[in-house]
Amino acid sequence: MAFRIGQGYDLHALCANKPLTLGGIIIPESSKGTIAHSDGDVLLHALIDALLGACALNDIGYHFPPSDDKYKNIDSTVLLEKVMKLIAQENYILVNIDSTVFLEKPKLSPHVFNIRARLSTLLCHPIESISVKAKTAERFAPIGTQEAIAASATVLLQNK
Ligand code: MG
Repeated sequence: MAFRIGQGYDLHALCANKPLTLGGIIIPESSKGTIAHSDGDVLLHALIDALLGACALNDIGYHFPPSDDKYKNIDSTVLLEKVMKLIAQENYILVNIDSTVFLEKPKLSPHVFNIRARLSTLLCHPIESISVKAKTAERFAPIGTQEAIAASATVLLQNK
């Protein structure tokens, strides 16, 4: 049985008066959203890069170039769905995910379960194998000064 590990990381600048989309849900308490070509969902982007990386299938920018207008403001859940199809074509299935979101404010802990549940639905995978952790940057820039949000994700895949 073959296993493949993958890791991904993403960071976006934050701006005022925009909804914050994270892990496929809106974080209602956030007064800032990401500056991005797509919906700027850093957690889904890190996860997509981890999934592609595990199969050595290049990266998110290769598959969904920001220069292509069809990806403008796109819902990143659509991109995740496409990547899961690529993984299946390679004959791999997901084993587990571990991820971390780095955001100073608002506190994400009340939303962690909902994000895990959303990922579980999107990936058709048990929530018990999907970990999402939240950290601040201890007020250090640029995440700590609330100018940016970042996420990292690690995935394990198994040959079908
Ligand atoms: Mg991104």
